[in-house]
Amino acid sequence: MAMLKKMSLDALGRNDPCLCGSGNKFKKCCLNKPESERRLHFEDMNTPRVNDWFFHYHPLQELTAAMLLHADLTMPELQKLASSMTRKMITRGEEEEKQIRAEQNPLVLMEKLSHGTDVINYPLVVDRLLEYEGQVTPFVIQKLRDTDEDVFIEQGVRYLNRVADFPLNEIVELAEKAKSPYVRSSLCVLLGIKGSEAVLPTVWRQYHLLRMQYPSESYMQGPLYGLYEYGYRFGLLKEGDR
Ligand SMILES: [Zn+2]
Repeated sequence: MAMLKKMSLDALGRNDPCLCGSGNKFKKCCLNKPESERRLHFEDMNTPRVNDWFFHYHPLQELTAAMLLHADLTMPELQKLASSMTRKMITRGEEEEKQIRAEQNPLVLMEKLSHGTDVINYPLVVDRLLEYEGQVTPFVIQKLRDTDEDVFIEQGVRYLNRVADFPLNEIVELAEKAKSPYVRSSLCVLLGIKGSEAVLPTVWRQYHLLRMQYPSESYMQGPLYGLYEYGYRFGLLKEGDR
C-alpha cells in the first residue's frame, strides 16, 4: 500500500487560487491570516472543500478501523491472498466451512455474519451471499439500519463493496440515518470509493457531525478516508500519490 503523503502547503504559490475555496488569490486571501482563522474556512458543514489544505488541518490517522477498512475495500485482491494463505496454514473452522459451502438459504448464511462464526470463514460467507445478491442486499440494508454488531457492520460493508448492483441511494440514506455511528462511519469509506460526485456533501457532512458528536472516538476517520478517496478520484487533491 502506498503511504499517505502528509499534505504540505509549502508548494502553494502566492498567485495560486486560495485553497479555502474563496476564489481569490492566495496572497489576497489566507496567506496573511492566522491559522485559527484559516481553519474556520473548513467548518461549514454544507460546503465541501476537499483540498490539500483541508487534510493539512484534518489529518488521516493510521491504525484506525477506518484505515483498515479503506485498505481492505480498495485492495480486495490483497484480502483474498491473505485469506487463502491463512487457510493453508490454519486448519481451524473446517467443519463450519463445509456447512457454509452447502448452505442453500441466504438468510441462514447472513446470520453467520455475527460473533460465533470463525473469523477465517467470513470471506467465504460473503462470497456465498453474493450468489444471492438480489435477495440478500435488501436484508443487509435493513439490518444495517439498527444493528450495532461490529462483525455484521464490517462484513456487511465488504459485501456491499462487491455487489454488482450497487444500491447507492439506500447507502446514502444509511450513511445519514443509521442508528450506529460505526455504520455511518464505515459506509462513508465505501461511498468515498464508489459514490458519485453528487454524494460528496453527505460524506463531508458526516465528517463534521461525527466529529462533533463523538470527539474522543475515531468514527470521524471513516468519512475522512471517504473524502480522501473523493479528493483523488475527482482531482481535488494535487499533491502526493497513492
Ligand atoms: Zn483563503
